[in-house]
Amino acid sequence: MNTPLISLSGIRRAYRTGDEEIEALKGVTLDIAEGEMVAIIGSSGSGKSTLMNILGCLDQATSGEYRIAGRAASSLDGDELAALRREHFGFIFQRYHLLPELNAIGNVEIPAIYAGIAASSRRTRAAALLARLGMADRTGHRPGQLSGGQQQRVSIARALMNGANVILADEPTGALDSRSGDDVLEILEELNAEGHTVIIVTHDPKVASRAARIIEIADGEITADTLTREGGRAAGRETQGPHQKRSPFRFGAALGEAFQMALVSMWAHKLRSFLTMLGIIIGIASVVSVVAIGQGAQSKVLENISSLGTNTLEIFAGKTFGDVRAGKITTLVVNDAVALSQQPYAAAVTPTVSRAATVRYGSVESNALVNGVGAAYFTAKALELEQGSLFNEADVRTRSQDAVIDANTRDTLFAAGEDPIGKVILAGNVPVRVIGVVKTSQTGFGSSGNLSLYMPYTAVQTRALGKTTLRSVILRVDDGYDMRDAENAVTALLTQRHGTQDFYILNTDDIRETITSTAMTLALLITAIAVISLVVGGIGVMNIMLVSVSERVSEIGVRMAVGARRSDILLQFLIEAIIVCLIGGCLGIAAALGFGSLLTALSSGFTVLYSPGSIVAAVICSTLIGVTFGYLPARSASKLDPVAALSGE
Ligand code: ADP
Ligand code: MG
Repeated sequence: MNTPLISLSGIRRAYRTGDEEIEALKGVTLDIAEGEMVAIIGSSGSGKSTLMNILGCLDQATSGEYRIAGRAASSLDGDELAALRREHFGFIFQRYHLLPELNAIGNVEIPAIYAGIAASSRRTRAAALLARLGMADRTGHRPGQLSGGQQQRVSIARALMNGANVILADEPTGALDSRSGDDVLEILEELNAEGHTVIIVTHDPKVASRAARIIEIADGEITADTLTREGGRAAGRETQGPHQKRSPFRFGAALGEAFQMALVSMWAHKLRSFLTMLGIIIGIASVVSVVAIGQGAQSKVLENISSLGTNTLEIFAGKTFGDVRAGKITTLVVNDAVALSQQPYAAAVTPTVSRAATVRYGSVESNALVNGVGAAYFTAKALELEQGSLFNEADVRTRSQDAVIDANTRDTLFAAGEDPIGKVILAGNVPVRVIGVVKTSQTGFGSSGNLSLYMPYTAVQTRALGKTTLRSVILRVDDGYDMRDAENAVTALLTQRHGTQDFYILNTDDIRETITSTAMTLALLITAIAVISLVVGGIGVMNIMLVSVSERVSEIGVRMAVGARRSDILLQFLIEAIIVCLIGGCLGIAAALGFGSLLTALSSGFTVLYSPGSIVAAVICSTLIGVTFGYLPARSASKLDPVAALSGE
C-alpha cells in the first residue's frame, strides 16, 4: 500500500484548565486511505471532536505525528494550514455554522472568495452545487429562512466549494430529524462514491453503520477498528497540492472582496455600525466647524488689522495707555508734529484731535466723533474714498470747514440715494460742508457702528475745542526705515522737546504682532481640541470594534475553518473600521456644513469659513483613525484560535 492520505501516529492532545491537565487524546494511531468512508464512533466526551479538529488542521496535537499525503502537519505554517483547510478539507458541523447575514449562495461561495476565484465563476459553481443538493429554489434564502436539513445541505455545498478531497463531518445529523438526517447521509455516501474521502464523527451506531469502516473511540483511545464491507472504497481523487500564492492582482481583488464583506456585515448590523460611527461623526463635525469658525474669526481680525494702516506710529499724551492724567498733559502740540515731519524717517505726519458732537441734517440727528486730522491722515490710515474728494494741506492751513464723512454717517443722515456731496450739516453748532465719503473704518474692534467725521484739525481746534493740545500724532514711517529705529528716534526727539517722557507710542506692527500671535495661540488651541475629540472618537471606535469582535467569534471561527488566512480576517476587520470611520467622517462633514449654514442664518456676527483643506484633512484623519484604532481589534480577531472560536457559541 502506498502512502495513506491521512496518517496519525501517537497523537496526544492535552487541555490545560487551571492546574489540571485533561488528556482528550491519549496516543491515537490511525491511517485513512484515499476514498474511504470512515465513521468514528464514541460516547460524548470521548475525544471525537478533538480528533476531528486535528484531522482538519484546525487544531494541533500536543505530541505525535500527523501526516497529510506524506507531509507533516507540524511543519506547515499558518497560511499553509489555512490553504489545506481551504483546498483540501471540507467541514460539516453539527450546528451548520452558516453566516446569518448571507444568503445560501453567499455562504457557499465563502471558501472560493478566500481561494481568490472570480465572482462570476464562483457564483455559477455555488448555484450548481446548491442545485445538485436540491436547493435550486432556495439560493437566495438566509439561514434563518431555511430548515435544519436545508441549512446542512448549504453547509455541505460550502464544504464542496473548493473540491474537498476530504469531507470531515462532525455529528452532521445530530441536529436533524431522522428523515433529513438520512438525506444528508445519502449525500455523503454519494460523494464518497464519487471519490471524496468522508470521515463522519457520531455517537449514533445507526449513522456509523452506513460507513464501510467503523473506528470506535473511548476515553481518548481507539478501542476498535472494523471493516464492515470490503471493497467499498472508491477509486479516490487526485490530491491537490496547496494553492499557489496570491499574485498582486489577486490581492487587489481580495481587497475588493473584503470591502464588500465589510459593507454586508455593516449593513446587517446597522445600529452597531451607527453607534461605532457616532464618535467619529461628532469628532469630525466639531473639528470641521471649530476650524471654520476659528478661520472666520481670524479673517475678520486680519481685516481689522489691515485697517489699522501699515507702518504707522501713533503718539499719545500720557505715560501709558489709559493714563488718567493724560487730559492734563498739554505738551503734545502741533509743533511736535511739524518737528516730526522734518525727520528723514517720516513719510507722512498728521496731528489728530477729536471730540464728540451731535451731527444733524434736516430732521435727522445722531452722535458722532469729530476727528480733526491733517491731510496725510487718510493715507496713513489707508482710508478708502467712496465719493467726492478729500481735503488737502491748503484746506488745513485755511481752517476750512469742509468735512469728509464715513459711510456710516452718510447712511444715517442722508436718505438712500441722496447725494451727500456739497450738503451742509451741523456738527455741534458748527455748520460744515460734506466734500467726501470714505469707507467706514474698522479701527476699533466692533466699533464700526459709530459715526465718524473727518475735518482739518485746525478747524476743530479753533472752532470747537478752543485749545491747541492734540489727541495724538500719527506718523507713517518711510518704507526704507525700520519701525523699531523710528520709534526710538521719535521717543528721543519728543523727550528732548518735552523735557520728560510724557507720551507713549502705539506701534501698529506691535499690535499686528500681538493679534497674530493671539490668533496663532487660538489656532493651536483649536487644533488641540480637534485632536482630543478625534482621539476620543477613535477610542470609541476601538471599543465598539473590540466588542463586535467578541460578538463575532463564531463567524471568525467559521471563516477560518473554511480557509481564511489570519491576514484575511485582519484585513476584513481593518477595512470595516476604515469604512466606519470614512462614512462617519463624511457624515461629520455634512453635519458641520449644516451647522455652519444654520449659524450664519441665525446670527450675522459669525463668519464661518470652510477651507477645502480642512475637509480633506478631516477625511484623511478619519481614515487614519480607522487604521490606528481598528488595528488592535482586527489583530485580536485574527489571533483567535479557530477551535475555541467555533465552540465559543
Ligand atoms: P466529543 O466530541 O467526543 O464529545 P471532545 O473531543 O469534545 O469530545 O472532548 C474530549 C474531552 O476533552 C472532554 O473531556 C472535554 O471536556 C475535553 N475538552 C474538549 N475541549 C476542551 C477545551 N477547549 N478545554 C478543555 N477541555 C476540553
Ligand atoms: Mg463533539
